[in-house]
Amino acid sequence: MQEQAVRLLTNLLGIYSPSGKEEAIGNFLAEEMIKLGFQVGKDGIGNVIGVVGEGEPVILLCGHMDTVAGHIPLRVEEGKIFARGAVDAKGPLAAMVMAAASINKEPAFKGKILVISVVEEEATSRGVRYLINQGIEADYAIFGEPSGVENITIGYKGQVQMKVVVGTETGHSSTPWLYENALEKAYELWMQIKNSYSYQPLEQQENARSPFNAVTACLTKMTGGRANSVIPFESEMTIDIRVPPQFTSAQVIEATQKIIAEYQSSNPKVMVKATVNDTVEPFEVNKTSPLVHALSASVRKVLGKPATLLRKTGTGDMNILGKAMNLPIVTYGPGDSKLDHRTDEHIVVSEYLDSIRIFKETILKLAELHNNKNGNGSR
Ligand SMILES: [Zn+2]
Repeated sequence: MQEQAVRLLTNLLGIYSPSGKEEAIGNFLAEEMIKLGFQVGKDGIGNVIGVVGEGEPVILLCGHMDTVAGHIPLRVEEGKIFARGAVDAKGPLAAMVMAAASINKEPAFKGKILVISVVEEEATSRGVRYLINQGIEADYAIFGEPSGVENITIGYKGQVQMKVVVGTETGHSSTPWLYENALEKAYELWMQIKNSYSYQPLEQQENARSPFNAVTACLTKMTGGRANSVIPFESEMTIDIRVPPQFTSAQVIEATQKIIAEYQSSNPKVMVKATVNDTVEPFEVNKTSPLVHALSASVRKVLGKPATLLRKTGTGDMNILGKAMNLPIVTYGPGDSKLDHRTDEHIVVSEYLDSIRIFKETILKLAELHNNKNGNGSR
């Protein structure tokens, strides 16, 4: 089983699959999953869907087949496998496939496992959005991304991306005292937004916020100005605001628009227009969910130490799935996420193998908890 698991992972890593080019890996994975006893189908955009078992609960294990661009030749060295996608996220994906396959040999298991390998996670989240639009249903979900074998990611922040355009009247740059400069005004406005959402990691007072619970803002792009002798009359900024679970993206947009309105009223000669480019809602699973319980217990059982629950300041596909499907979802998988997208991306083989056991224990425990709660599997 260990040899087979390592072979599946190295085979997946041997197929280069940047976003948008998942056909070969999808076909390979579908064939392998059939051999492992799954019922397998491919949906309209190339997501591979494998099913094991039937009935309740329905446990969704979702991973992605694509990687960021940048080929790294596959090599195995001192118990580590180096390749693009080793941790993000073919390691977690292969672990979920192997764990679900092993459930076939567990006669006591009652429930259905869906292992779905999506396309284009690193690009547009098209694969996950398609699943949602198709009306996929499950009772629990685990999103396979590297959290480290002993850690469970239970929350991600949301995100608001805004475009702010600042306009002023223009004139000759030899008379700067006569006109407002759109670049300077935009930056002045940005500083007001930034100061409203300031987060200092060294805040030591009693109710110090963690970075996870703070709204933070980052100026990611600023352009403006035309020619040497012209006072800049237009500036465009892109602002990336991260939203903790105690707020919605709409509340953060409203608060930001209020800051802009106040700036506008004290600077009547400056025109400001703000638009929202994109929003993702924050998501945090309830820690008392059977899902968190089953996964924590399995980490303890296999590794002999307690699991650590992580809340991340980034934003993941788990946000989109969790909000749309309204179910308990966590992100879990072997590998160090600091190696994501790097040229020395690699996975430790023993950690990968441990994670397969943890996924398997989690599936068994979760089905048991669910069916006991709901009266031996019948409703
Ligand atoms: Zn990923």
